[in-house]
Amino acid sequence: MSVTSGTLLLASLLAAAAVHAAARSPAAASPPPPASSLSTPAQGQWLSRTVDGIMGTRIYVELWAENEASGEAAIDAVMAEMRHIDDTMSTYKPTSEVSRVNALAATRPVRISPELFKLLGTALQYSRITEGAFDITYASVGYMYDFRAHKRPTEDQIEAALPAVNYRHVLLDARTHSVRFSQPGVRIDLGGIAKGYSVDRGIEILQARGYSHALVNAGGDSRVIGDRFGRPWVVGIRHPDHPDQIITRIPLVDAALSTSGDYERYFDEGGVRYHHIIDPHTGHSASKVRSATVIAPTATRTDGLSKTAFVLGPDEAMRIYNGLDDVDAVLVTPDGRILYSKGLQPGDAPPAVPASAGAAAGAAAH
Ligand code: ADP
Ligand code: MG
Repeated sequence: MSVTSGTLLLASLLAAAAVHAAARSPAAASPPPPASSLSTPAQGQWLSRTVDGIMGTRIYVELWAENEASGEAAIDAVMAEMRHIDDTMSTYKPTSEVSRVNALAATRPVRISPELFKLLGTALQYSRITEGAFDITYASVGYMYDFRAHKRPTEDQIEAALPAVNYRHVLLDARTHSVRFSQPGVRIDLGGIAKGYSVDRGIEILQARGYSHALVNAGGDSRVIGDRFGRPWVVGIRHPDHPDQIITRIPLVDAALSTSGDYERYFDEGGVRYHHIIDPHTGHSASKVRSATVIAPTATRTDGLSKTAFVLGPDEAMRIYNGLDDVDAVLVTPDGRILYSKGLQPGDAPPAVPASAGAAAGAAAH
């Protein structure tokens, strides 16, 4: 099946499938209310804002606010949190906490903030869940790639750096809140999880302020609170080769979705695509799928899992995704097939979403 004809399959799948809700409770999966209750309340408005250039990507926040000033202030707070995470976690910023860790942790333990300590712990957990496919030490080789400048390491450079790629080299000490690398040459980069984490932080900020209908998106990572008054939020998955074509739309309620693609940061050379997802075992770009979309309750989780299919391939990745109760996935293979996890198979599907749900407004495609 080609990517294009997969659209048709997906249309029928979505017609049969429930909206992706974080908790697959009967309430979350029950059919949307009748049309009369689909209208939005009179008091309030949808507010949205797009900001470019935080964490090297575009941030989009949309929420239903009864009070416009409070809504705008809430969006300000989300953007401020995203900037804070960028300042802490970016390896492009020499002053960031992560850059400091990279400079020092091979020589001595480095005391770090509770926030970074916790996220490093989470990242290591995803390495274990994904059988090593997700690995923040990919950066020990990854730092030699510059996709914008069409720069990549030589085979000799990769071979020399590869022993430093292994998440087991990252040693966390909970007693002293410090991190240490077990050998020289180790570097970490949270580019594969920090955006998802920042989306979750944004959602937490909005929840704490009482918002119950909102979307936060950072690059390929999105999470929504609630729905759009009787309709789900809808996030599109783009065609790997055609940025303006959507291969499928995923309706979401109280859930997160991340898409990783080989078309995000790349260059082509000699018929090979060099792109930003690195196989920790080889140090080369991981190309066993073209795109991977993961749906789960939090964006940290979806981000932590979306790289796996590139490294392990569709069969192994689906085995892992299908083994996790709260995870679903849509993969596009190199030959253009679209593969769905167990929970998206038509047979299993809970009650129908009306066709109109597929056309509802939502986030941009990724
Ligand atoms: P986006 O940055 O648009 O959210 P992804 O979620 O696909 O894209 O993450 C890609 C990023 O993940 C890369 O730019 C890199 O920083 C990081 N990365 C690359 N390979 C790995 C890997 N094997 N494990 C963990 N992170 C990785
Ligand atoms: Mg991501």
